[in-house]
Amino acid sequence: MKIIVGQGSCGIAAGANKVYDKLSYEIKNNNLDIELSSTGCIGMCYLEPIIDVIHEGKKITFVNMDENKVSILLNNIYTDNISVNEFTIDKKDIEILSKQNRVALKNCGNINPESIDEYINTDGYKALEKVLKDMSPDEVIDEIKISGLKGRGGAGFPTWFKWNAAKNSPGNKKYVVCNADEGDPGAFMDRSILEGDPHRLIEGMIINGYAMGADEGIVYVRAEYPLAIKRLSNAINEAEKKGYLGENIFGENFKFSLRIKAGAGAFVCGEETALLESLQGERGMPRLKPPFPAQKGYWNKPTNINNVETLANVAYIILNGGKTFANLGTENSKGTKVFALTGKIKKGGLVEVPMGITLRDVIHEIGGGIKEDREFKAVQMGGPSGGCIPKHLLDTSVDYESISKIGAIMGSGGMVVMDETTCMVDMARFFLDFTRKESCGKCIQCRLGTKRMLEILTRICEGKGKIGDIELLEELGTKIKEGSLCGLGQTAPNPVLSTIRYFRDEYEAHIHDKK
Ligand code: SF4
Repeated sequence: MKIIVGQGSCGIAAGANKVYDKLSYEIKNNNLDIELSSTGCIGMCYLEPIIDVIHEGKKITFVNMDENKVSILLNNIYTDNISVNEFTIDKKDIEILSKQNRVALKNCGNINPESIDEYINTDGYKALEKVLKDMSPDEVIDEIKISGLKGRGGAGFPTWFKWNAAKNSPGNKKYVVCNADEGDPGAFMDRSILEGDPHRLIEGMIINGYAMGADEGIVYVRAEYPLAIKRLSNAINEAEKKGYLGENIFGENFKFSLRIKAGAGAFVCGEETALLESLQGERGMPRLKPPFPAQKGYWNKPTNINNVETLANVAYIILNGGKTFANLGTENSKGTKVFALTGKIKKGGLVEVPMGITLRDVIHEIGGGIKEDREFKAVQMGGPSGGCIPKHLLDTSVDYESISKIGAIMGSGGMVVMDETTCMVDMARFFLDFTRKESCGKCIQCRLGTKRMLEILTRICEGKGKIGDIELLEELGTKIKEGSLCGLGQTAPNPVLSTIRYFRDEYEAHIHDKK
């Protein structure tokens, strides 16, 4: 018998470490023939702590566990009662998994992230072997091109194009950088992959290195993700010991090394050129483009930068073929996308769905609808850079083009769901306050414009708004978007502009009714 405890950050926050310790104590003290193991987040964060019991080929999942329930479970574990135990997962919750297509999240919540052998047992590092033994760098880039994979960090730029540009840039020294500086409020897609399946990222980065001619990789990860750093660090050590990192990988004339750099907590360092500045020990401020990182990146050498989710798709594409990946999704947005469902949603957590699914399906079918059966009001997509999508657009297809047409952005995958009790002006103020604080200050439009917008929003929220404030917000927002250097400033007004577009009556009510 084997018991696996979900020990992602969500599980740990809900008490998984205590559950693990109790299990460990009881197993040892009672000399039970049970193997105890750990895994990452399966995505059903609302049911944590979760444990899986695997016995005679059958897996039973128990949810909302605590130390007291562990004793009851162990008392019943060898009896038929186990399957009808009151802690067993509900069938409806199991269906949440069956409604998804898990590509990037395939192993998360299923394998032990601290065991390279478990990763290898799920075809781990086979894509790397295939690439090194059977494919030229151009063939690898072609396969990525066929897959239609676009960057999952927010910009949605074709991945193959960036790899190819870095490959074709002159120079002997090139770098692969993984952007794991996930800073959007409500987003934890990358963290879950790093905590739940770090080898998948490592494999994707090595393949990226081979395709573009780089021999060194760096993962720039938020310092606020200590568990992710610990597990990634452990995985790098294991990969080095097994020979997947280092010289002559798979006996071929190819070498690759990997290291971690912890960020210092600035949201703007998610912007790729600010990230490079920070990596070089400078203040994290965006650079002018061009030159692009593919031409002059880390220490002015050709550099490819992708985020965690993008790179986590690479091994699947190589092993299954670009066409298989492209068969998922829509004409222009291929594959799947991972979303973090948060806010006023019943089944908050992490889901991976094919592009083209509707927002309604994600929120109501998979997410279970709104807490306390309240009315859905809006969903903020794309974090503080994104837009607010109202109820009448719930049937919008989740793909890059459709989402941007309605004034939001796909972003990295954060979905903050709001119910009928949410004040949309207050919500816009919250996000603008975030971007104002995170502005690096380089551009006047972003540095001062967001400050002025916040002042106006604050007075509106306090019932001191003036006639003309809405128009002023629109004008300022447009100017900031036009005059800012980087994506932070170019998108900072989005939450305000999209709420004015869809919830203008709420702004007017604040101003005219003075409340
Ligand atoms: Fe800095 Fe804002 Fe300008 Fe970006 S837009 S460079 S965050 S001031």
